[in-house]
Amino acid sequence: MSFENLGLSEVVLKAVKDSGYENATDVQGLAIPAAIANKDLMVSARTGSGKTAAFILPALEKILAARGDDSKRREKGKIYGPKILVLAPTRELAMQVAKAAQTYGRFIPGLKVATVLGGMPYPLQIRQLTGPLDILIATPGRLIDHIQSGKCVLGNVEMLVLDEADRMLDMGFIDDITMIAGNTPVERQTVMFSATFAGHVGRLAQSLLKDPQRIEV
Ligand code: AMP
Repeated sequence: MSFENLGLSEVVLKAVKDSGYENATDVQGLAIPAAIANKDLMVSARTGSGKTAAFILPALEKILAARGDDSKRREKGKIYGPKILVLAPTRELAMQVAKAAQTYGRFIPGLKVATVLGGMPYPLQIRQLTGPLDILIATPGRLIDHIQSGKCVLGNVEMLVLDEADRMLDMGFIDDITMIAGNTPVERQTVMFSATFAGHVGRLAQSLLKDPQRIEV
């Protein structure tokens, strides 16, 4: 399927084309228009399916849409928190997501992407969390630390993405994820990626998603 008809803006399409992609993958063709239409999603797609772009591209569209009324988000030194929050099970996966956000967002002026990862030093993360912030990619345990110390707030989150939710639950992050989601506005959009939605992942989906669309590729 062509990228042209998915509802993406020129600045995003340009970055996608520069990546050399001919066509959208199946998961991208299904998830991108639905996410842009503000639907909550339950998506099962393997690594290698192009699932990262399937949520990062609509996330960038949200940021572009919010740019107009953004003039108040300029005060330096203040903690605003992100508009888009992506939770991922491991540092490696989170860093891949951050790289994708930088790549696909490179023509968006002043796009700010931050990472909050376990096992990495705190001071740089705290600096990244200060001031206006578009996308935050985090592993759950470390994000909880920053929330509890008041260095991160989630009251401006418009879209919450759970990448590899089944793995996060297998790693014991259920309470962290529930607490993090509880710090975001109830009217947020929520997108969950998981190999399965059976058992505890299904129960988490039920508690976090509103009238979700199921996508399986
Ligand atoms: P992911 O499933 O997100 O881990 O992506 C797997 C790989 O596919 C990454 O290296 C992406 O750069 C690449 N990729 C993502 N979307 C496309 C596409 N539409 N066409 C070709 N490659 C893609």
